[in-house]
Amino acid sequence: MSSSESARLRPLSSPCPTWCAGVHEPSIEANVSHRSVGITVPGVERSLAPDGDIHAIGVTEITIGLEQTRGETWVWFGSDHFARQSTVLSIETTKRVMRAVTALLDDVP
Ligand SMILES: [Zn+2]
Repeated sequence: MSSSESARLRPLSSPCPTWCAGVHEPSIEANVSHRSVGITVPGVERSLAPDGDIHAIGVTEITIGLEQTRGETWVWFGSDHFARQSTVLSIETTKRVMRAVTALLDDVP
């Protein structure tokens, strides 16, 4: 996290964003984490075998959602087939990734 990103963190959470699918207790409002409903995208994923040599290809599901904690909104991506990994990116980073992927795919038939 850069210093400019950490400077934007606020100590208290804000009221539920319109996309929040959570039910929160008023008593824990200060520490609440707002989460959207996840959008699940089916797809195909390639990964390395444990020996790092052979590529395995299989179906997967990637779940994408929003989370807001302490007033900062993040986009999380979860894939549970191969590596059980998730990635959480800032809104700005997600938009930059989307623009970069779109530019790369413009040259793919
Ligand atoms: Zn909420």
